[in-house]
This record gives sequence, structure tokens and C-alpha cells, in this order.
Amino acid sequence: MTKAKHLARKRFGQNFLQDQRVINQIISRFHPQKGECIVEIGPGLGALTWPLLEQIDELHAIELDRDLVARFEADPRASGHLHLHQHDVLDFDFSSLTNATARLRIIGNLPYNISTPLIFHLLEYAPIIQDMMLMLQKEVVQRITAGPGGKNYGRLSVMVQARCAVEKILDVSSGAFSPPPKVDSAVVRIVPHTAVVVDIPDSENFARIVKASFKQRRKTLRNNLKGLLNDVEISAAGVDPSARAETLSLEDFSALAKQIT
Ligand code: SAM
Repeated sequence: MTKAKHLARKRFGQNFLQDQRVINQIISRFHPQKGECIVEIGPGLGALTWPLLEQIDELHAIELDRDLVARFEADPRASGHLHLHQHDVLDFDFSSLTNATARLRIIGNLPYNISTPLIFHLLEYAPIIQDMMLMLQKEVVQRITAGPGGKNYGRLSVMVQARCAVEKILDVSSGAFSPPPKVDSAVVRIVPHTAVVVDIPDSENFARIVKASFKQRRKTLRNNLKGLLNDVEISAAGVDPSARAETLSLEDFSALAKQIT
């Protein structure tokens, strides 16, 4: 029996990958191995799911759309191999999937409408994540990978790079999807550091400083950090109070965060 056609739902950010060359490149760069604890976010119609399951025996998949979950459940290829979690990934507890030996490997062509909050959610699980291979809006990948000094460098760049190594893997044009999204896409690899690269003794203070520093990009740190740090404290961190956040290194943000008492 042939399956009924699934109509893509905009509210779930459904743009299904259909370019086999792109799919192959993503999977080969991800390099899944048997025995790893691999989690796919938003398996959709299975564009990445089925090729993954050709290489590994077990895969977790988190999908919000009930109809898509039902399609997988009805597919004999999934039985015993695909562990479906019908859940909103934004409040999914990733620690429920780990065991004592393996950290998580995460892959997904993400729903673009929730990509930034989802990355912040995933960062909370950085210590139990080995790596992530994520398809995102190209502009978001540019922000994640940007260094100081440019217009793309901001809160997302600092918060991700303070805890992870990042690398753009692939640009993907909208023609690779059905329906095509209105924006270009890119794949990024995000690998949480296993050793301390940026010293962050208090992650809440670090997050507060970074958020406040970029509150109004055109304003100086002196302005944006009002109520958190004064000129003397900013200078004590080795940072010029009249500088703008976009010129600061990760270490500068770390030094500023340590000034909060
Ligand atoms: N992986 C498929 C592919 O590449 O063709 C589908 C990718 S599509 C861009 C995003 C997928 O994420 C859809 O299947 C959508 O239903 C699912 N999704 C959207 N919002 C979600 C959420 N909050 N939690 C879990 N899955 C979600």
C-alpha cells in the first residue's frame, strides 16, 4: 500500500530535504558508527533517518508532528531500530537518552523557526554531547561561526564558541528542499569542548554579561552594562568601557563576567 502524501506544515518549519547529493554529504561528514548514541532532531519524512539506519542499528528521533511519527511507526524498517520520541525538542530532556559510556551525537535538519532557542537549549546539554551536525538557515550559521569585528558576531557566536568548536561544513541552496525555504541554508558542526578553553566559573554571570553587552549593538559597553558593571570594573577586566561588544574576544567576556560580584 502506498503512503498518503504528507502536506508540509509551515508552522513546524517543514522543508524536506530531497537532494540525494546533499543528504550523502551530510551523512558521510557525520560518519555514524554502530554503538554510538545518535539522536536525530525532526526526522520528517526520513530523508536523513533511513540513510542513517543503513549504517547504524539504533537511532533516537525527536519529532513533534504526530502524523509524521505515525508514518514512521507504520514502517516495518523502523521496528526495533528507530526509537521515536513524539515531543517538542525545545523542552526535550536529552539527558534521558545518555548512558554511562556514550555521549550523544546529534544530527538534524532543524525547523528554522526555532533554531536559535533550540541551540540555547542544546548548549545546556553540552557536557553530555559529543558533537552536533545541524542544518540551519545560512545566516544563523554565519552568526554561530563569526569571529569578533563583524556584523555577524553577537550573542549567539559568543555563547556557542565559549563552549564549543564550530565549523561550517556545507552551503545548501533552497532547491535542495521541498518545499524550498525562502532562505539559503548551511550545515554546521558544533563540538563541545572537553577541556576548558574559555574560563567560565559562573555560567549565569557569563550569560548575563554577554546578553547585556549586545543589548544595543551600536552602544558602548559603558551604556549596555549600566547597572551591572561600572567603568572602573570594566577597565579592571582589561576592557575599554567605550568599546562596542562586537570587538570583544571570548576572553574579554570571561574577564567581564568575573567582575560581577
Ligand atoms: N529531517 C527532515 C528532512 O531533512 O527532510 C525534516 C526537516 S524539517 C526542516 C524539520 C522537522 O522538524 C519537521 O519534521 C518538523 O515536523 C520537525 N519539528 C518542527 N518543530 C519541532 C519541534 N518543536 N520539536 C520536534 N520536531 C519539530
